[in-house]
Order: sequence, then structure tokens, then C-alpha cells
Amino acid sequence: LVHEFQIVRLLGRGGLGSVYLARDLALHRVVALKVLRWDLAASTDDCERFRREARTTGQLSHPSIVPLHSFGESPNLMYMVMGYVRGESLGARIRRLRRIDPDETRRILADLALTLEYAHREGIVHRDLKPENILLEINGDTVRPMVADFGVAMRPSYDPPPGELRRSFGTPHFMSPEQADGEVDIDGRSDIYSLGVLGYLMLSGQLPYSGDTAQKISERRTEAKHRPLRQIGP
Ligand code: ADP
Ligand code: MG
Repeated sequence: LVHEFQIVRLLGRGGLGSVYLARDLALHRVVALKVLRWDLAASTDDCERFRREARTTGQLSHPSIVPLHSFGESPNLMYMVMGYVRGESLGARIRRLRRIDPDETRRILADLALTLEYAHREGIVHRDLKPENILLEINGDTVRPMVADFGVAMRPSYDPPPGELRRSFGTPHFMSPEQADGEVDIDGRSDIYSLGVLGYLMLSGQLPYSGDTAQKISERRTEAKHRPLRQIGP
């Protein structure tokens, strides 16, 4: 890739990839370069997931979804070239400010709701909405959310690869009960549940259901034992 891109710095790491800020040498613009992590590159399952993420993202076109410019693959490298979002992740913002101001929360949630409506209409469920996967584009005083990381997204009622049957994907804290149960046939409503958890966290600075293990979180969620939002963030 050295003839095409100049790596500027590491932007972030997730479960599957490392994302770098890079300069596209032909087009004279900055891009986000997501590379499949080397230590994972050996697993064919992960390669397939990465390809699927690229196909899913490439099929979506929406102002609040991080655009995919291109995808490339060689025997020991797999990468996606994506639009760079200048700002910070929602996770970083919550850690920095502890809570998000109610007006800003309302605008972010409204934007995300419309974006999810679009994705769901296209037949795609994100399945991993969490603060690290929401990038905020910050332009002076305006903050605009962009949905990233369709790494575990799926189409409802598609044929899951064998390893995926009844294995739950996503992050326990933000998952809907049906998703935590390993339900295969989930739909857009699971994303809406995660959006609700995000809203609770933004307004209160706390997760509605927490615990040391996925099991604990799951029990609390099933019993809906959360502190009312009004008590924490009136
Ligand atoms: P993974 O699938 O490994 O979780 P993500 O796509 O979620 O990877 O990216 C990991 C992190 O990299 C994000 O939380 C974010 O901080 C950063 N990042 C990802 N894509 C971009 C982008 N287009 N612009 C800016 N930062 C990004
Ligand atoms: Mg991620």
C-alpha cells in the first residue's frame, strides 16, 4: 500500500481491525484505512467477516453512515478505505464529558434513528451499536453522528454461517434480550433497543445494566432492574 497511501497515525482499534488515518497520495485527501488485524488474519472466519463488512458498508449510502471508498485484498493483507470522520467517538466524548447535554443527546438520537430506519429499510441490522461504533463529526459547534463498523451486521432471515448459529454477537451492555439469547432471526428492533441504551448512557453517564459477566448483565436486563433515568439525570 506504500505507493498509494501514507500512514499518518493510528485512529483506533476494535475487535477486528486497526484503523489508521492515511493520506491518499493520488487523490490528495485523508481517508480512514481499516486493516484486518495481523494476529487475526489467519482465521478464515474473520476474513469472511471482514469481506462481509465491506460488502454491507459498500451497499449503504447515507450521510450518517461512514462511506466505503474501496476494499482490497492480497494474501496477507485485507483493507478498507473509508471516509475519515474528524472528531471523536461517542465513547470518547462520554468519557471526557461524563454526560451529554440533553439537547445534543436529542439531536444525536434523532439522527441515529433516521439512519437506522434507512439501514433497516435496506434490509440491514447493525447488531453492534455502542459508543465506540458511533463517530461524531465535530465542526465548530455542530456535532453529527456517523454510524461505523458494520462488522457483525446481517440481513434478517439470511442463512448464517455454521459458527454463527446461536452464538451471540455484539456487546453485552447494549444488546437486546433476544440478541443476548443468541436468537438468530432478529430484526431492526434489536438496534432500536441498543439505541435506547445509548440514550440512557448519554443522559446519565451510566449503563442501565452492568455486571462482571455477560450472564449477570443478561439477568438484570431480563428483570429490567435499572434505576429510573429521572433519578440519575433529572
Ligand atoms: P472494529 O470493527 O475493529 O471494532 P471500528 O470500525 O469500530 O473497528 O474502528 C475502531 C475505532 O477506530 C473506532 O472506535 C474509532 O475510534 C476509529 N475509527 C474507525 N473508523 C473511523 C473513521 N472512518 N474515521 C475516524 N475514526 C475511525
Ligand atoms: Mg468497533
